[in-house]
Amino acid sequence: MTCPEAAPARSTAKGAAAWEQGWYAYARRSESPNFGPRPPQTCVDLVVLHSISLPPGQYGGPQVQQLFTNQLDWNAHPYFKQIEGLQVSSHFFVQRGGELWQFVSCEQRAWHAGRSQHAGRDNCNDFSIGIELEGLEGDLFEPAQYETLSALLSALAQVYPLRHVVGHEHIAPGRKHDPGAGMDWALVQRCSALDAQAFSGVTKKI
Ligand SMILES: [Zn+2]
Repeated sequence: MTCPEAAPARSTAKGAAAWEQGWYAYARRSESPNFGPRPPQTCVDLVVLHSISLPPGQYGGPQVQQLFTNQLDWNAHPYFKQIEGLQVSSHFFVQRGGELWQFVSCEQRAWHAGRSQHAGRDNCNDFSIGIELEGLEGDLFEPAQYETLSALLSALAQVYPLRHVVGHEHIAPGRKHDPGAGMDWALVQRCSALDAQAFSGVTKKI
């Protein structure tokens, strides 16, 4: 498919300056080994939102960052035994207080979506940017997280021709349920620089 450049009006020098080889200047960087190359000529036009907390429902610890960098102690909590050996990553992680982390360059393919499909295209990891929000599936998110997400989506839209923002649940229905009913998609749409069409995949939730 054709891959239009980001809208000229959004591609300001200032916006591009926030990025260096797919790394966002305003995120704390913790590099993950869990990534690979995107297929040649990939049009990165999809953002996938997720929720995660480790152990589930406990916030503020270092465990999510440890998971994404293969440093989690599988023996530290009974739940971790259920996911032992998992090698995953996302491009970004937004903590409850709005702190932003980045693990994989957006120019690379992070391992966040698994088996998935969007608009007739399989393997969403190939052409998407994954953003994990610290939270519990179906639970509410914090205002500070929406603020960070809004700024991040605007910054991404300055350098990538984003067409759609969806949840993991929308690209892997039945298999995945995050971020779930607690995600305020209408708020995400209102405070992002993206038009309503970008959220057509989640229309039922708005
Ligand atoms: Zn997910």
